[in-house]
Amino acid sequence: MSTGGHKIKVVCRVRPFLGSEKPDHAVSVESGRVLRVTNPRDSTKDIRYNFDACYGSEAAQEAIYKNDVRPLVETVFSGMSATVFCYGVTGAGKTHTIQGTESAPGIIPRALEHIFKHKERDAVDYDIRVSYFEIYKEAVFDLLKPRDATGALPIREDGNRKIFVAGLSEKQVLSYEQFDQLYQRACGNRRTASTKLNHHSSRSHAILTVQVKWRDDVGEGRVWCGKLHLIDLAGSEDNRRTDNSGRDRMAESSAINRSLFVLGQVVEALNTGATRIPYRDSKMTRILQDSLGGECLGMMIVNVAPGEFFLQDTQNTLNFATRSR
Ligand code: ADP
Ligand code: MG
Repeated sequence: MSTGGHKIKVVCRVRPFLGSEKPDHAVSVESGRVLRVTNPRDSTKDIRYNFDACYGSEAAQEAIYKNDVRPLVETVFSGMSATVFCYGVTGAGKTHTIQGTESAPGIIPRALEHIFKHKERDAVDYDIRVSYFEIYKEAVFDLLKPRDATGALPIREDGNRKIFVAGLSEKQVLSYEQFDQLYQRACGNRRTASTKLNHHSSRSHAILTVQVKWRDDVGEGRVWCGKLHLIDLAGSEDNRRTDNSGRDRMAESSAINRSLFVLGQVVEALNTGATRIPYRDSKMTRILQDSLGGECLGMMIVNVAPGEFFLQDTQNTLNFATRSR
């Protein structure tokens, strides 16, 4: 039985209209938990979707972090694993949410700042390490190294049946500034790969893992290890279940982005209490297996754009997300 663990929280975020967009609202936040999708022809056919939390376009980065993300980040200091990922089509606001900008920092800089502040306040000697990799077409690439320096990395199982990415770099970081330098360089590596391959960045998953390790001072001193995964997923447009004619083109075997497709199935299985969780069916879910389900905390942020132009995408996204609850 794999049930009885924590469910994966599902939170929705609607981004504001961009200056270049026609402000024709297709969705509205009806309460702190409900998103309403407007039917342009018949308002009696509006559809309401329930979430653990729902944020409108006015929501600040800080609000999402404080209310929903910070409690997950805090659990690494009790030796647990937590995962936050952003799901949505290209242009819906995933990267803005997980990474943000200089003037509106997102989850990654806030989480790391929090971790280093905790470290400074505490007498415990925390060892903080990060890895950052990308999954593109089911191949794993180290983002802490220039793309030309390494090829795709294999996934292996160690003697304790723990899954790991063989050869993935893990860098110790002593301060937020040191982390930030490393992270900025890694983002540069991702951009370089992206300009060489068309659509690369919208089709790849970027997974930042922060590992916090320490030894307590009771008796022999037990070693504790907490892990936090912060994930900017590939654009979900590649994984629409139906084509323009409404036909189901998303047979499992033909998943364009297998890791994204299987992640959806894993979240759904965990949240509906299914007995078989299909972790082994994709690279990403295999790698994250120990951090999804059981006593681990997880959260999916569902990013949607506000306008009618995105309506079909928004509906696909919301159908996916609410199936997972
Ligand atoms: P994605 O990563 O899902 O493709 P982005 O994060 O790049 O989408 O967002 C698309 C555009 O919308 C970007 O120009 C981004 O700066 C802007 N944007 C997204 N979310 C917000 C937000 N909450 N507030 C302000 N601008 C946003
Ligand atoms: Mg993006």
